[in-house]
Amino acid sequence: MGHEIGFVPTMGALHDGHYSLVRASLENKHYTVVSIFVNPTQFNNADDLKKYPRTEGDDLEALITAGADVVFLPSVEEVYPPDAPPSPTYQFEGLDETMEGKMRPGHFQGVAQVVNRLLELTIAQHLYMGQKDFQQVAIVNKMIEITGQNVKMHVCPIVRAESGLAKSSRNVRLTAAQQKEATLIFKTLKVLKKRFLKGESPAALSSWAMDQFTREGWKPEYVSIVDGKNLKRYKNFGKADFVVACAATWVGDVRLIDNMILQNS
Ligand code: AMP
Repeated sequence: MGHEIGFVPTMGALHDGHYSLVRASLENKHYTVVSIFVNPTQFNNADDLKKYPRTEGDDLEALITAGADVVFLPSVEEVYPPDAPPSPTYQFEGLDETMEGKMRPGHFQGVAQVVNRLLELTIAQHLYMGQKDFQQVAIVNKMIEITGQNVKMHVCPIVRAESGLAKSSRNVRLTAAQQKEATLIFKTLKVLKKRFLKGESPAALSSWAMDQFTREGWKPEYVSIVDGKNLKRYKNFGKADFVVACAATWVGDVRLIDNMILQNS
């Protein structure tokens, strides 16, 4: 007892990426609370919400095995009581104007709203999130700054399948063949990183990567090379201290995202 609370927000359909966050919290000796809540306010696409995989029974069993202290499965009414004042609109100072924010209008307001609300409910001092959703971490950090919540963010590295495909709840919707094909995302990011570090132009590398995906028959939404702090497009060579490549592409009717830190010195 007397332990600080570590909180891992998830939308369920858990995989090794989620468990890595739970493990990180437990290793830090935090009393570990995991929420499973498919947050309706962050889905800009009703079909995506409907198709979002739900595997609560398996998730619960796995979380018990993993050693989570509490699993929180709130209802929509608990998270958003009908008589509660409306959630504020956060000013993210441009962090929500690119990449996921641009492609999924309203998504990050929903993310900030739910994480803020879940932090209020769990009174956690520590928040565990994955680098897999790089822009989401930036948004939640900004929300924490705006609201003045007393919580420390812990960002955990991307967990990948052996093939390199980033683990994602949406991967179960890919066919076996598509899962194999989808390793192209990681392969492309790796090559992009090598070429970036050799000094190739970020703009040329972005369009090269987009081409790779298009040639595979996919519909890529973006491959952006950004300053990891302000998420603005990175244009210079080798000067910024933190540079990240972020990608989003449709593989069939499944939308996948991934990213890679290109430089962090
Ligand atoms: P989600 O259930 O997709 O909302 O994800 C819940 C948390 O797990 C978020 O902080 C994600 O960034 C994190 N996460 C999802 N996939 C991975 C992964 N492959 N590696 C590390 N963290 C992940």
